[in-house]
Amino acid sequence: MSKLRFKVVEEASNRKAISVNIPVERPSEYYGKYVFNRQKMQEYLPRETYEALVNAIDNKQSLSRRIANSVAEGMKRWAIDNGARHYTHWFHPLTDGTAEKHDAFIDLDGREGVVEEFAGKLLVQQEPDASSFPNGGIRNTFEARGYSAWDISSPAFILDKTLCIPTIFISYTGESLDYKTPLLRAINSVDRAGTAVAQYFDSKVQHVISYLGWEQEYFLIDESLYEARPDLVMTGRTLIGHESAKNQQLEDHYFGAIPSRVEAFMLELEIECHKLGIPAKTRHNEVAPNQFELAPIYEETNLANDHNLLLMSIMAEVARRHHFRVLLHEKPFAGINGSGKHNNWSLGTDTGVPLFAPGKTPKDNLQFITFVVNVMAAVHRHNGLLKASIMSATNAHRLGANEAPPAIISIFTGKQLGEILAQLEKSDQDQFIDFAGKEGLQLGVSQIPEIMVDNTDRNRTSPFAFTGNRFEFRAVGSSANCASAMIALNAAVAEQLMDFKTKVDARIANGELLEHALLEEIKVLIAQSKAIHFDGNGYSEEWKQEAARRGLDCETCVPKIFDSYLAQSSIDMFKKSGVFSEVELEARNEVKWEMYTKKIQIEARVLGDLALNHVVPVATRYQSVLVDNILKLKQLFPGEKGEKMVALDLDAVESIAENMVVIKHEVAKMIEARKVANRIESEREKAIAYHDTVVPCMDKIRDYIDDLELMVDNEMWPLPKYRELLFIR
Ligand code: ADP
Ligand code: MG
Repeated sequence: MSKLRFKVVEEASNRKAISVNIPVERPSEYYGKYVFNRQKMQEYLPRETYEALVNAIDNKQSLSRRIANSVAEGMKRWAIDNGARHYTHWFHPLTDGTAEKHDAFIDLDGREGVVEEFAGKLLVQQEPDASSFPNGGIRNTFEARGYSAWDISSPAFILDKTLCIPTIFISYTGESLDYKTPLLRAINSVDRAGTAVAQYFDSKVQHVISYLGWEQEYFLIDESLYEARPDLVMTGRTLIGHESAKNQQLEDHYFGAIPSRVEAFMLELEIECHKLGIPAKTRHNEVAPNQFELAPIYEETNLANDHNLLLMSIMAEVARRHHFRVLLHEKPFAGINGSGKHNNWSLGTDTGVPLFAPGKTPKDNLQFITFVVNVMAAVHRHNGLLKASIMSATNAHRLGANEAPPAIISIFTGKQLGEILAQLEKSDQDQFIDFAGKEGLQLGVSQIPEIMVDNTDRNRTSPFAFTGNRFEFRAVGSSANCASAMIALNAAVAEQLMDFKTKVDARIANGELLEHALLEEIKVLIAQSKAIHFDGNGYSEEWKQEAARRGLDCETCVPKIFDSYLAQSSIDMFKKSGVFSEVELEARNEVKWEMYTKKIQIEARVLGDLALNHVVPVATRYQSVLVDNILKLKQLFPGEKGEKMVALDLDAVESIAENMVVIKHEVAKMIEARKVANRIESEREKAIAYHDTVVPCMDKIRDYIDDLELMVDNEMWPLPKYRELLFIR
């Protein structure tokens, strides 16, 4: 067994960078090559069709059957011209990742041959078998059909010779079975609510757009090492493995040179991204060894999210070509940093005004403060829900561990914004507003621009930070579908903006001036949502206690964190914003609990196997070697001399034996705990049982195995060790 380990380690360290086929054209020439964007639409669609489609996209309308047929025809021609042979509806089921069912572009021609065919009805709607995707009981198996329908706001693209059509996935009764449907609803909701508020400042505003710029962190690992670790293959993380003597203490990876093998991978990945219209821009090393990040230029949220999902799948493919495996798990290695996916989020008007950036005039700044304060109020009101939106069995290893934000949502504002808010709250209106001025309004907040543009006082310990012109939701996990967080955030802000508008309108109806009404409501919100504002060290123990005192959600048990989705405040909010019905929320929670249980169940099985079939036999073998040696030494050197020689080995034999006793005992206990949990009917209770009774056994088993790793002969140890996994040369 150990021979295998040394062989794969050698293979991995001898691996050379693979040369990349760099296109001769410049990025600007091949950017979007495989995307049916407006330029291709114009080229392949009749003028009338093109105009109808663009109008439908821009004004969020649906397509007529006739236009759909014409779009399908043009799209098919474009796809075939670019080498596509199949088409698929590409959707985002409630598992993380995407789903596809491929069909060839052929139909019988009635003369024993085929023609390339793609009708509008196939473009607009398909019927994948909904029973094979998690649906939380919405679908009974006897009517196991849902349908997928084209989301025209996201362009079709070609991946692996297949035309992929981004679609929503819903049941026949209209409940969403995916992430995209509620994301679109949330985006529309914040558009409507945001527009109504933005119109206080500019009546020309027709839409408010939600923007997302994600930063994808990931680990790379050599494929042969990966394959020698059943835990990585089956669960995406190492379930055992002692820390290596050196990991990230020297902080030398972040600014270090990117290894050439990795650079080749990154280059090819970027080229693929650009061909698919993903504006990949930034790449760098991350804090942990073998950890990297890719970030694009931000885009409209729905498109940005499609691009992130697409990135995650092409990443895996490109990595394979370079003999790597990409790990998107939030915590592949204990003791070193995990991976997140910061969601940089902002709102802006269709007139081009960013709503979270201070402006040049007092009016702009009042608008800025209005939106920022409403976000803070929404995050405060729904802090438990926002935490639930980013929580999963895998992200739980990252949050609350001593490297990432705690499992408590708070907002970092930075000094300047914090001071402005404090000033505003206690301000006396007359001091701040001078209606006589030529611009109609003078505010104390008018000095904002100079001081805030370069907001450098970053706080890395905050899960939700204001960074000058956007908020950065940092608690999102690296493997997550960003939609989950974006649905909750956009919907919560939509609800808050609706409430704000109602209150401001009521004041105006009572004869208050608009500016006065806005400021009064802003002051109320600042006072109400104070508890969410925290600029201190989010890693500290004191913060946990302080947060509890402030009434923030401090729950750490993942299955219980999901309860926030079913809190009355969440049900009301999702109803008001039109994002989820109560039935959908209930169904989705069933899926969340079930997924949690399944993930832990798989990990527990793999760990049991590793413990009993990999580690214990090797430790036993090493123990016999020691025992044999002890007996022989004692024979050779009878008496005190011999006793002295074997004393330490005897201790080692004893320690190994003790560790193995605990491991075997805990594995048995863990199996029993699973059996008991599996009999529980309620998905929620079952998930809680896994959390409370299975996970602690796993933690203990790992501790004792990692301890053994330091005792057993290095040559015998069956699995590649951290120091071998973590340093790509
Ligand atoms: P850092 O790691 O310093 O936070 P990065 O450059 O890695 O910054 O990533 C920042 C991300 O935020 C990028 O995707 C960028 O396009 C995005 N971003 C910048 N401005 C906005 C904005 N107004 N709204 C949404 N995303 C933004
Ligand atoms: Mg960032």
